Amino acid sequence: MKLRKVTAAAAVVLALSTVATACGSDDKNDGGSSSGGGKTIKIGIKFDQPGIGQKTPQGYSGFDVDVATYIAKQLGYNANQIEWKESKSADRETMLQRGDVDFIAASYSINDERQKKVDFAGPYLLAHQDVLVRADDNSIKSPSDLNSKKLCSVTGSTSAQNVKDKLAPKANLQKYPTYSACLTGLQNGAIDALTTDDSILAGYASQAAFKGKLKLGGFKMTNENYGIGVKKGSDLKAKINTALEKMVSDGSWKQAVEKNFGPANYKYEPAPKIGNIVQ
Ligand code: GLU
Repeated sequence: MKLRKVTAAAAVVLALSTVATACGSDDKNDGGSSSGGGKTIKIGIKFDQPGIGQKTPQGYSGFDVDVATYIAKQLGYNANQIEWKESKSADRETMLQRGDVDFIAASYSINDERQKKVDFAGPYLLAHQDVLVRADDNSIKSPSDLNSKKLCSVTGSTSAQNVKDKLAPKANLQKYPTYSACLTGLQNGAIDALTTDDSILAGYASQAAFKGKLKLGGFKMTNENYGIGVKKGSDLKAKINTALEKMVSDGSWKQAVEKNFGPANYKYEPAPKIGNIVQ
């Protein structure tokens, strides 16, 4: 039985990562205009986070994809003029600095460290760091219980940094390149818990392959203010803020959260005010 479980989970993760790899080849930056009118706009998203940013054989889906598509439209680009690029947690600042993408919508928390290198529009979602554990594990009842555990998070994420700095400094923290890699470890017992934003974890827990096998702690350990990353000094920041304000006021934001977080039963926070970072 155990083996069957592991195999099914591994197959899902493999399918996710195979698709991501097959489609993750980097095109040359053709200098597409970021102010509208150019033939394409390059947008960085996650490829392996169901409900947030996911690449499947059917295409791209998730809340970040819908937000990015709305912004692109306001900037003058139709959906078929968007080139989606995978931006893993550790790659985001570099991709913006190099000009690989025009903007990034990838569960990207605004913080001081990152703001030294890039600018952020938004915030457009408030999430909270949480943990995902196996459904039959009752040993993690509070964040401090993590101190004796093998904990997985992703290189370059605020989640990994928070664990080391304050949440559970004594935890055996293992940093993987993607959250889907952590998921495999959680299923096969290599790690005890996966920690990142509840918005991401809810998406994983609701996948058919994991239903009833994984559960969230519900700890709300931090505030993660999701922003749209742009190159430092870019005039896109103001334009994207205008687009985000419109997305909220015309009801599209609400539609997008319901569509993407409803299936995972994720209790999202109300739309943040632009420029209002919750500490
Ligand atoms: N929101 C957190 C961050 O920006 C965790 C999710 C992620 O790695 O994308 O680091």
